Amino acid sequence: MSLNPHRTIAELKELRALTADENGALRVAWTDTWLKAREWFAEKLIGLPVTQHYDAAGNNWITLPGTSSDTLVIGSHLDSVPNGGWLDGSLGVLAGLEILRRISAEWEERPPITIQLVDWADEEGARFGRSLFGSSAFAGTSTIEADRGRQDRDGITLEAAMLRCGFDIQLIDKAVSGQENVKAYLELHIEQGPILERMELPLAVVKGTKGVERHHIVFHGQEAHSGSTPMNARHDALAAAAKLALEVYPIAQKHPDAVCTVGSLKTFPGIVTAIVGRCEMTLDQRDLEPKVLATMLAEAKEASHRFAAEFGCTVEWSKIWSIEPEPFDPTLMQFCAESIQEVTDSPVQLPSGPLHDAAEVSRAGIPTVMMFVQSLYGISHNKIEDTDETHLELAVQAMDRLASKTMNWIAEGCE
Ligand SMILES: [Zn+2]
Repeated sequence: MSLNPHRTIAELKELRALTADENGALRVAWTDTWLKAREWFAEKLIGLPVTQHYDAAGNNWITLPGTSSDTLVIGSHLDSVPNGGWLDGSLGVLAGLEILRRISAEWEERPPITIQLVDWADEEGARFGRSLFGSSAFAGTSTIEADRGRQDRDGITLEAAMLRCGFDIQLIDKAVSGQENVKAYLELHIEQGPILERMELPLAVVKGTKGVERHHIVFHGQEAHSGSTPMNARHDALAAAAKLALEVYPIAQKHPDAVCTVGSLKTFPGIVTAIVGRCEMTLDQRDLEPKVLATMLAEAKEASHRFAAEFGCTVEWSKIWSIEPEPFDPTLMQFCAESIQEVTDSPVQLPSGPLHDAAEVSRAGIPTVMMFVQSLYGISHNKIEDTDETHLELAVQAMDRLASKTMNWIAEGCE
């Protein structure tokens, strides 16, 4: 049985028909639709010489035992955001399944090393606001205390939702034991952005996931009457904030891959007849280089103080959240580039702006790489998310080659 990328596309459509409605995919983790997707996936394994187990965090592991216990893991996630697309996550899992079938057939059910396919639990964090849930538990970067009390919109706790699916949140720390024998991790994912489409290229090597600095900024001015206060006597918090919102463009544009976003801006009192006395905004900055991130943050802080002074205001910063950039493994990036080259054009390297399970695996010290396939219109997390079918086929072929190269590398002692 040789690799059949058509089957991957057919299975993706089958999963979509089973778990989406007219508004898109509904495979939100810890819901009945997600469990239905997992049941459907289990049926696909019938007849393969594999074993299956769930770890303590709800990650689904499929194992094809090899001569050696050294293990190559291929993975992604079957869960989706509400009204999500048909490819985000599912592509990586179903391409991995096809590669598993090919390896099993080629090696007559006993490859030289062990191959595992993993469907990470709750990558999206759509219901409880905790992204990368399963892969963080595997990596040992999560804490039960922080996650236990999380609630969805209906007041149901993550703990209760997990229990309903058969998992005890008390035990998620045990998921780290899955790291044993794992020598490399590979993940195929749609790009979810517009860059490959603009370059007219189907595939890219992912350099790593960008680090994130996320801050809450408050400008304090003075509320005053909009009719009686002359322009030169104002302490206008919105004017200072507005200047900063525009300043993030030149701050980011000095660096090729950096992005800065002011996603929220609230004015107080927020009425038509008052100068804004307080303005709250959020800033999200991302880049693959820690130095670039630090520079952009320092520049934004400096600019905020300058604009505050210009409008007679003060400014306060508080951190919402931050995460370090996670560069991928250079050897695996090289294999990924060669694999892309063998099936299509010259490979490009892109950083990933969104976080992925692969970043958590890499944080655990396991050599990791991702491959991106072009997203049409650069849109994801939406029912119009799509990828050209010829590109999907190329992606499955290139991932299969990447799996073979990585398997040989592991068999030869990762040298
Ligand atoms: Zn995803």
